[in-house]
Amino acid sequence: MESNLQIRLARRPVGEPTVADFRLVEEVVPTPGPGEVLLRTKWLSLDPYMRGRMSEMRSYAAPVAIDAVMVGGTVGEVVASNDPRFAVGDLALGYGGWQRYSVERADGLQKLDPKMTHPSYALGILGMPGQTAYCALNDIGAPKAGETLVVSAAAGAVGQVAGQLGKIAGCRVIGVAGGSEKCRYVVDELGFDACIDRKTESLDAAFARHCPDGIDIYFDNTAGAILEAVMKRLRIGARIPLVGLIEQYNATEMPKGPNLAPLLIARAKIEGFLVSDHAAHTRDFLAKVGALLEQGKLAYREDVVEGLERAPEAFIGLLRGANLGKLLVRTA
Ligand code: NDP
Repeated sequence: MESNLQIRLARRPVGEPTVADFRLVEEVVPTPGPGEVLLRTKWLSLDPYMRGRMSEMRSYAAPVAIDAVMVGGTVGEVVASNDPRFAVGDLALGYGGWQRYSVERADGLQKLDPKMTHPSYALGILGMPGQTAYCALNDIGAPKAGETLVVSAAAGAVGQVAGQLGKIAGCRVIGVAGGSEKCRYVVDELGFDACIDRKTESLDAAFARHCPDGIDIYFDNTAGAILEAVMKRLRIGARIPLVGLIEQYNATEMPKGPNLAPLLIARAKIEGFLVSDHAAHTRDFLAKVGALLEQGKLAYREDVVEGLERAPEAFIGLLRGANLGKLLVRTA
């Protein structure tokens, strides 16, 4: 049997991660114990939250220890099973991390339907990022027809779904993305009404042009400069699901706080969101978003990198905005 290629955390990055913060090792393939399953990773999801796990800063989850395998959601094929619920050849959604093989508790795995045409979607539109879009938009954003919705990181895993669900709810949807190719994708393929290029346009001028009557909902994937510009145009009763803070994930100093006066003036609501709090909505999310996808009402793009060895550079690129769509590593 081949070896178990693993990518471990070599040291804690200061600022932007570099490839030297990761270490590739070849290990012996592990053996599953009672109630456990051995999986060969087919797909590894790369997500912004992993930057937080590389640091020791206070967070909602413990950091990855130095020399431990980087954590991450995976779709794997069962190679050996000590649990009657899993047979060799089954595909399962798990949390195998950045490695070729993983041993996981059968209880923590979710068997995927063998008829599923794109098993990788379980890590994207039909998984954690899709559910983030669905729950944060509906539970906090509460979109109503005719309202103006702004979505940042609009061409990414969460943003592309959030904006399209906003369109289906009848909103005018304005995206913010980095670069003209992403902005074209957001308007032409996802059907947003407009997209602001955060790298070349003045945010204040662009929001004034695209949102002349103000903003009802801001689906915030970034915080920072985009949040600051949006706050100047909040309509009375605006809602801001605070979903991600990617602008500050590589920061070495905490940014200064934003001016909160616009929230008070607009009697607006800003609410932190964590997808793991919304497990009770998974069935509803899968039914609604799964049906929309099947009916061809949602477009969706993946950005696939070939080979586990390339995970570190791909992850560094994600934090720079190099990905268009949901970033995944195909390991097989
Ligand atoms: P994406 O696929 O959107 O990739 C990240 C994108 O963020 C980049 O492509 C880039 O897009 C954008 N970005 C990077 N740096 C900056 C910056 N300095 N300023 C503005 N934008 C930047 O990732 P996801 O869709 O997986 O995640 C989006 C956000 O949602 C993240 O902040 C993530 O942490 C958060 N999240 C939160 C969850 C929760 O439970 N609260 C669950 C899942 C995700 P561009 O260049 O186009 O702007």
